[in-house]
Amino acid sequence: MIKSLIFLLSFLLVSTGLQAAVSAQIIGTQPTAAKIWLKGNTHTHTTNSDGDSSPSDVVEWYKTNRYDFVVITDHEHVTAVAELNSKYGDGGKFLIIQGQEITDRLDKKPYHVNGLGLQSVVMPLHGSTVVSNLQKNIDAIRESGGLAQINHPNFGWAITAADLLKVTGAPLLEIYSGHPLVNMLGGGGTPGVEEIWDSVLSSGRLFYAVAVDDAHHFKRLGDRSAATPGHGWIVVHSETRTAPAILSAIERGDFYASSGVELEDLAVDRTAITISIREKQNSRYRTQFIGRNGKILAESISNPAIYRFKGTEQYVRAKILESNGSIAWTQPVIRTKTK
Ligand SMILES: [Zn+2]
Ligand SMILES: [Zn+2]
Repeated sequence: MIKSLIFLLSFLLVSTGLQAAVSAQIIGTQPTAAKIWLKGNTHTHTTNSDGDSSPSDVVEWYKTNRYDFVVITDHEHVTAVAELNSKYGDGGKFLIIQGQEITDRLDKKPYHVNGLGLQSVVMPLHGSTVVSNLQKNIDAIRESGGLAQINHPNFGWAITAADLLKVTGAPLLEIYSGHPLVNMLGGGGTPGVEEIWDSVLSSGRLFYAVAVDDAHHFKRLGDRSAATPGHGWIVVHSETRTAPAILSAIERGDFYASSGVELEDLAVDRTAITISIREKQNSRYRTQFIGRNGKILAESISNPAIYRFKGTEQYVRAKILESNGSIAWTQPVIRTKTK
């Protein structure tokens, strides 16, 4: 048992030079039953920046809508969470996590990076190139104890795959957003954000994908031109229901992103990825297993959807598509090339 676990870990961790997304993915070889799946949003605004609702109202919306946690990420403002947690946290059942969106600009283009769990406000540090701009802010987030999330790469057509390849220290990349103006799908010759993600992964750099709300407008629910809540989130496989455990699970890629598809379970062992979908009545599903350069390696209409490794993949990730348009994205399993 221990031998097989060690084998599996080394199998998943080495060779491409990438840090593998392993922890959720050795189900069956360690007691993952102890872990819990927690739903949360890592990009939300309040009246402490340009949101239309108070921190209390925002927190109440996420609590009422059965999220397990929310990270408040106001522009250049760290919204205090202790009081909110004692008022709305139900003794730790619902968690409000401290955060900030660092809002930088260069040559009239926006460069926004979220700091999840950072301790104090980071003012934009203004690098003179795209990469130095992002890197300075990412480094400052890390120094403040936060996890860096690169936001909406196609907002203002600001960030390319080539830029992302040159920055380090940010584990997270927004690939889906509820914000209506962030050009997620690309166009006019510019790739969509999911394509950018595959491009970066194919070049050997690991980012974990997050889906977010980037919510600003809680008083305009139903208005499709507004940045309303409830569109994109992550589901984190956490050891405990605490902010440090959630942030550490996010940092090691132990989560999936969703715009509506729910998973019962997600298991990876040395032979296969197995995805159990929590099906909605009258919906139908298909699961794409995607590899290098965004190529679809296999498609499944079964539940669970299973992909058996062939041994030649650089990485494999899954995209579960529901018949009305909602999607779940799992993190890439980085494969070693067997010698
Ligand atoms: Zn932004
Ligand atoms: Zn934002």
